[in-house]
This record gives sequence, C-alpha cells and structure tokens, in this order.
Amino acid sequence: MSRAFDGRINLVAELREAIAAKQLDVHFQPKVDARTGTVTGLEALARWQRADGTMVPPSIFIALAEEAGLIQDLGLHILELTCRYARPWIAAGLVDRIAVNLSPGQLNHARAIDEIFAVLAAEDFAPRHLELEITENYLTRCVDDAARQLQAIHERGATIALDDFGTGYSNLNFLKQLPLDVVKIDKGFVDGIADGGNDRVLVKAITDLARAFSLKTVAEGVETAEQAQLLAEFGCDELQGYYLSRPLPADACRQWLEARATEAQAIEATICNGANSR
Ligand code: C2E
Ligand code: CA
Ligand code: CA
Repeated sequence: MSRAFDGRINLVAELREAIAAKQLDVHFQPKVDARTGTVTGLEALARWQRADGTMVPPSIFIALAEEAGLIQDLGLHILELTCRYARPWIAAGLVDRIAVNLSPGQLNHARAIDEIFAVLAAEDFAPRHLELEITENYLTRCVDDAARQLQAIHERGATIALDDFGTGYSNLNFLKQLPLDVVKIDKGFVDGIADGGNDRVLVKAITDLARAFSLKTVAEGVETAEQAQLLAEFGCDELQGYYLSRPLPADACRQWLEARATEAQAIEATICNGANSR
C-alpha cells in the first residue's frame, strides 16, 4: 500500500513538471454530420507520454490533476495547444468548431473563465470556433453557479456542449434552464442501440427532447455502421467515434481533414457534372 502511495505521489510530481514544461500533447477526434458525413468539428483530447515513453490514460491523469489542484494549468495548456494547432485548419476552411473539455475543478477556479478567454485572445482564436464540453455531473452539483458561468461563456461567444449526457442524475429541467447548445449522448447508450431494447428507446427520447429544446445532439463512441445508421434514423445530428476516426495526432488529423475535403469536392463535382449532362 505504501509503495502504491509513493508511486502516486511521484506521478503527481511528474505530472506537475510535465504541465509546467508544457509537455502534454493533444489529439483530435472528428465529428461528422450524421446524414451527409460532412465534418462538423473536432474534439481535443489531452495526451500524456511520460519520459520513459509510457502513456498515462486521461482518465487517470485528469483525475490526478483535479485532486492536486493542477487542472486549471493543465486545461489552459491544452487550450493553448489546441488553438495553435487548429487555427490554420479553420483558416483553410477544413473545420469550423473545436471542442475542448472543461472539468468541474476548472470552473471552481474564480478567474477560470477570464483565463480561458485570455488564452483565446493571445492565440488570436475567435471564440465562435470554440465549444466547451462540460459534464452533466458538474451541472447537477451546483446549478446556480453553473448557470451564471455558462451564461458568461455564451456572452463571450463560445458554445457549450453537455458531455456524457444520461450518466448523471438527470434533471431534464437543466436542458431548459441552462444556456446549452449541444447534448452529447454517452457511449453507454450508443453501445446498446443495435440490440434493440431500452437503449434504443432512450436514445430516441434524448434526440427528440433535445430537438424540442433546440439543442443539437452528438452521439459519442459510435463504433459500427449499424449504430451510425440507426442514430441518423433517430434524428441524431452528429456522430463521433472509432467508426469515423480514432483521436489523431495533429499532423494525422490535418491529413484526415484534407482527405475528407478532397473526397467531398469530388462528390460535389460528380453531382454537378451529372446535373449538367442531363
Ligand atoms: P470524454 O470527454 O467523454 O471523451 C471521449 C473519450 O472516448 C475519449 O477517451 C475518446 O478517445 C474515447 N472514444 C471516442 N470514440 C470512441 C469509440 O468509438 N470507442 C471507445 N471505446 N472510445 C472512444 P480519452 O481520450 O481516453 O479521454 C477520456 C476522458 O478524459 C474524456 O472523456 C474526458 O472526460 C477526459 N479528458 C480528456 N482530455 C481532457 C482535457 O483536455 N481536459 C479535461 N478536463 N478532460 C479531458
Ligand atoms: Ca468530451
Ligand atoms: Ca463524453
């Protein structure tokens, strides 16, 4: 037990150093329109490779950063990197909306929102291209504070997605009370839809409800063609998951976006030629 405890303390010290030295990296996972397949956005996901080459999963180091009070610095570093990588992609018309995860610990910080928008200004990144993903669990903890903070984010021009929807103690009133733009349907529900049963009913209900509140829906963790097709039939707006692409390092992401753009142009040209020859 003592050894495990020492290991944990060392890992926190290493993480602190890695954040201070800006050694964390970010990968990007595409989101596409469920009907047309057009790229609608990217989600930035933090990656940490230790000096010995091992990767630490975000589920571990994000939780450590939260506990050790390092999450705000980590979050700002990831945001800065995201802006640097993605700004040229946006300028080239390859993508329009980049989502960054915001953890509850970051929003507890008094100057959190000012600091986020200061990074955008320093990186010359227009807030309208930024979406902040916030988990449903956070909102259920302190709804009044959350409402104020989300309002402040909106007023400065960024959009907000409710992450992991359906996993918290869902109070559907949130969808109506809070200034949200997107609801992300948790992978847990997507996994079960091809088997029929409850998950299918739930996913359909979530998409209908979101539409009634003028919110966009994004399904996460889409791994098969069958899931993608069912989600499109249910009226889900966007898809994200291994079926479309795994999270990619920046270079590979740019290549993926360029290949998709070339493909889309070729399809458009075929349609135009078809129309002209008729
Ligand atoms: P999340 O925000 O729900 O992100 C989605 C996770 O699902 C990512 O795991 C992604 O790689 C994974 N995923 C995407 N599609 C599929 C799929 O089709 N199948 C499967 N099995 N998995 C899929 P990842 O990158 O390990 O991140 C885990 C969590 O860590 C994220 O969950 C998010 O809560 C947190 N996280 C990651 N980066 C950041 C960050 O920069 N800041 C904060 N605060 N949290 C982050
Ligand atoms: Ca997310
Ligand atoms: Ca999620």
